[in-house]
Amino acid sequence: MEPDERPCKVARLSEVSDSTLRDGAQLLCDYVEDLWSDTGRERKTVELRSPDELVAAFSESGCSLDLSDSKPVSKAELLDACRLTLKFSVKSNHPKFYNQLYGRIEPVGLLGQWLATATAGNCHTYEVAPVFTLTEVHTLRKLASKLNFPIESEGLFVPGGSIANLYGMHLARYKAFPQVKTEGMWACPPLAAFCSDHAHYSYSKAANVIGLGTDNLIKVASDASGSMRPEALRDAIGAAIAAGKRPFFVGATEGTTVMGGFDNLRELRGICDEHHVWLHADCSWGGAAILSSRTETRDLLAGVDAADSVAWNPHKLMGIPMQCSAFLTRHNGMLLQCNKYGAAYLFQPDKLYSDLDIGDKTIQCGRLPDSFKLWLAWKHVGDEGWAKRVDKAVDLAKHMADRMQKSGLYTGRFHLVAPLSFTNLCFWYFPPGMKSLYQEVVDNPQCIKSPSSECWQKLHSVAPKIKSRMQQKGQAMIGFQSIPLEGGSEPLPNFFRMVFASVWSVAEADIDESLSDIDAAGAELFPTLNGHAPWGNA
Ligand SMILES: *Cc1c(COP(=O)(O)O)cnc(C)c1O
Repeated sequence: MEPDERPCKVARLSEVSDSTLRDGAQLLCDYVEDLWSDTGRERKTVELRSPDELVAAFSESGCSLDLSDSKPVSKAELLDACRLTLKFSVKSNHPKFYNQLYGRIEPVGLLGQWLATATAGNCHTYEVAPVFTLTEVHTLRKLASKLNFPIESEGLFVPGGSIANLYGMHLARYKAFPQVKTEGMWACPPLAAFCSDHAHYSYSKAANVIGLGTDNLIKVASDASGSMRPEALRDAIGAAIAAGKRPFFVGATEGTTVMGGFDNLRELRGICDEHHVWLHADCSWGGAAILSSRTETRDLLAGVDAADSVAWNPHKLMGIPMQCSAFLTRHNGMLLQCNKYGAAYLFQPDKLYSDLDIGDKTIQCGRLPDSFKLWLAWKHVGDEGWAKRVDKAVDLAKHMADRMQKSGLYTGRFHLVAPLSFTNLCFWYFPPGMKSLYQEVVDNPQCIKSPSSECWQKLHSVAPKIKSRMQQKGQAMIGFQSIPLEGGSEPLPNFFRMVFASVWSVAEADIDESLSDIDAAGAELFPTLNGHAPWGNA
């Protein structure tokens, strides 16, 4: 064997990756900058391809998706594969991506993400992550001060709002029954938890994971705006107690995922106090409201300072790259008590600065330094900058609502499902061929409450068709859904949900164009036949 063929030989970067890393990084910078440029704005939000077409495109490039024959490819082929991936990935940074509650990442946040990854950062111990440990402390302190949480509150960056909600439920149960940590559910009486029927589904997942069982997470009716009805919570708690259960957790939602509803935390706190129940506020979406310069926006979160714990996703409205989610609790020390295992090989008490180790407070081992990108972005944007961005999101939502309803351009085409809440604008669109249906719905809103009615079914078919047409054309991506409102059991016909996450690169003109694209798709897909609508209009 030649000496330099021995497997334990030390490799140089130039031998392993050539300049692939540098060239690839350039590619990524170009990609991000392009989406902020005038030409980038004109690009499609998505180059839609079927799975077969994607497989074919990668095969043709010389870097097939299949790894079964995993011989190394050339540097050129590798970079081509990167280009193809960028080309066919959804442009979530595009000014017309409104499909979910994220998008248009803050470029300095991306720098933070890259830096944290470049160091192979892992913030379980101070020993391996001294700076990231401190940015986590300072970033959580900043979020807590914004929420007016007590100075001694503490928290963690966790992999998503769903996991932050899990932490809330997990801590709440531990606080009520600390023996649960060692004895499991055998240590507890039958338990009950509560959230609204518009709360995020992660509460149900958490109920499953902690062994509560999804049947014991009681969904409380919400009002027309998607906010939990406090008196319905009081009744539900009473009924659970009467059935021999012990209520231990109320999961409020501040900014529901679809309607943008905010639960009344002051009222919920009062009810929770009567029964010694933990109040968790899922502010995954709405937490950013507290950053606004306007009292009426900040007041959406009134009472959040009295919650036992909070979830907040800076990777949503603040545009920090995925994932960046914070969990905060006022009960200092409880994260460690509840989750501590004290692995002897990792959390040695006799090493330097071990009192700063964060890792044992978590349910993970390795954990990404997600605080760093938020910290860096905050240094770049500042409090005033965040306020402007949040205010802009609220203003753009108002602009869109006004354009639909007051501009005179779309009379009889758009109908709001509920008044605009925060930045969530939920609406039905009635194509020109459905004029009489619009009138029917306005005159008799009951007609869309029953999925078996003709009126419900006609309207239900509109959003998916328009959505797919706009996807094929690479136009604005806007989500739709069919869900019940006001505690009902029957879902409403599919309606669009427009959301304004991290919109500082979005212009009013982008919104105006998206509306006229919806209307053009409607005219194309649901034409008026010979002056008569296809749905038998008079
Ligand atoms: C998005 C969202 C979540 C889930 O957050 P992930 O980071 O996607 O896990 C939870 N609650 C609400 C209200 C949300 O909008």
